Parts: sequence; structure tokens; C-alpha cells
Amino acid sequence: MIAGIELGGTKTVVAIGTAAGELLEEWRFPTTQPAATLGGASAWLRERGPLECIGIAAFGPVGIDPQREHYGKMLATPKPGWTGFSLIGALATAFPNATLTLDTDVNAAALAEARIGAAAGLDDVAYITIGTGIGGGILSGGRLIHGALHPEFGHLKVPRQPGDDFPGVCPFHGDCLEGLASGPAIAARWGQAAHELGPDHPAWDSQAWYLAHGILALLAIVSPARVIVGGGVSQVAGLHARIRSKLLEISAGYFPPAMDPDYVVAPALGQEAGIRGALLLASGV
Ligand code: ADP
Ligand code: ZN
Repeated sequence: MIAGIELGGTKTVVAIGTAAGELLEEWRFPTTQPAATLGGASAWLRERGPLECIGIAAFGPVGIDPQREHYGKMLATPKPGWTGFSLIGALATAFPNATLTLDTDVNAAALAEARIGAAAGLDDVAYITIGTGIGGGILSGGRLIHGALHPEFGHLKVPRQPGDDFPGVCPFHGDCLEGLASGPAIAARWGQAAHELGPDHPAWDSQAWYLAHGILALLAIVSPARVIVGGGVSQVAGLHARIRSKLLEISAGYFPPAMDPDYVVAPALGQEAGIRGALLLASGV
């Protein structure tokens, strides 16, 4: 039996499913303190029967390189109580006989969208989420990119939209991409939550500017064949089309992949990309 755990900043999802990433049964609950969250997830999974493989898709920063000392641990996170907690330690104690495979939530989502979603059949795919934070996962040449830690797409610096003097909300950098364009940044900038702004609000023009510049950096460095933009904020009508057209403008004819009319698309797996990616991680595909 294959199991997946998607550990998010606000909610956690546990599931059992198939090696092809199909969900058989899942449970969603709020992420609280680390021991209680992992304890709850483990108890639910144990009731489902003996598990051989568990895929874990975690919010970051988290150590995902098994060769490094920080493997499986939550690194410096503003989320109270989580810094230094060992996810792999907790799960290895709860499931001593299971094979554990850990990656970031956004890498898991990239994998799922690339195998069974909006980028099915492509080996060079980026998945970006815009919600409480901004994150990005990258599949390159069929492999999930890790690097020394893992990509931190949301903390990229992007050029300011002319006339924009909003200081940004990132506690580390102020006006990085996440500081300028995450859900909390939109709320702070416009005085209203993203889901309360209509699709014609000027906020979306500004969002398209910042996200298109972030995607341009991805194009210049890893050249994805397709970019999936998901997360709560991406659900507003028309955002993907706005990003595509801004990207086309700023790429100035230089980047052929960006000319694909389906270059920037919504996830096909919706809110399930992360947990289905966790199942695929567990199955090792
Ligand atoms: P998290 O990042 O915590 O997992 P989400 O991805 O659900 O959370 O993102 C939450 C953000 O998405 C909030 O800022 C909320 O205002 C925004 N949001 C949710 N639904 C919509 C919508 N339909 N249109 C625009 N923004 C939305
Ligand atoms: Zn930042």
C-alpha cells in the first residue's frame, strides 16, 4: 500500500492511493504543532494497514538531501515551533519498516502535474504556487531539481512595476516576489483579501507583471517547456492569460517556449497536485 503526506503551512493532507497517483482515501486537517500534526497523520495512516512506502511533500525550508546532516529536518521557518523538527525522525519512529521519500510540496506538485496533469508527457516543467507564500518546484530532464537546499522561487528579486513603491511583506527581504505578490502581500497592498477583489481590479495587472518577471527568470535559467501556476490566488478568472500576455511582451521574442499559447496554465489536478505528487514520490516514478 502506498501512502502520501502533504504537510502544508496551514493544512495537512494524508492519503492512501495507487502507484499511479490515484487517491483511494484521504483526510485533511489543520497543521498545528509538529508532534501533534505528525502524530495525527501517523495514527490515521496506521489504521489503514501496513505501509511499505510513504511519500512526503513538505512546506519549506526543509532538508531534502539524504547525504546532508539536515536531511528530513525543518529549517529556519517563521512558523512557530517547527524550526529544527525532524519529519523523517518522527515518521521513521512511527513506521520503522516503511521506505520514506521526502521532497518539497511544490516539487511534488510539479511531479504530479508533469506525470498525470496539465503537463503530462513533458519532462521540463515548473510548478508555481501563489497562496500564503509563493513557491516553485522544477522538473528538469525528468528529474526534480534540488540543488544544495531546494529552489526558493518566491524569494527571487524581480524588477518593480513602474510607480510601485509598496515596501513588500517578506519578513526576510521585504520586496522579493513573495513580498510583493503573495496573498498576504495583495491584502496588505490593496486593503482587501485577494479573493474579495473582482477580476477587473488593478491588482491583477500588477500580479501579472510580477509573476511574468519571475517566470522570465525561470525561462532564462532552466527553460521549462510549460509553467503551471496554482495556489489560492491563481483561482481568480483571467490571471493565467494576463501572465501569458505580459510574459510574451517582456520576453521580447527571445524565448521560443514562451510563445506557446499554453505556456502558462492552471493545474489540472487543482488542490490535489501536492498529495498526488506525494503518492508518486512514494512509488518512485
Ligand atoms: P496556502 O498557501 O495557505 O495553502 P492557498 O493556496 O489556499 O493557501 O492561498 C490562500 C490565498 O488565496 C489567500 O490570500 C486568498 O485570499 C487567496 N484566494 C483564495 N481563493 C481565491 C480566489 N478565488 N481568487 C483570488 N484569490 C483567492
Ligand atoms: Zn523573501
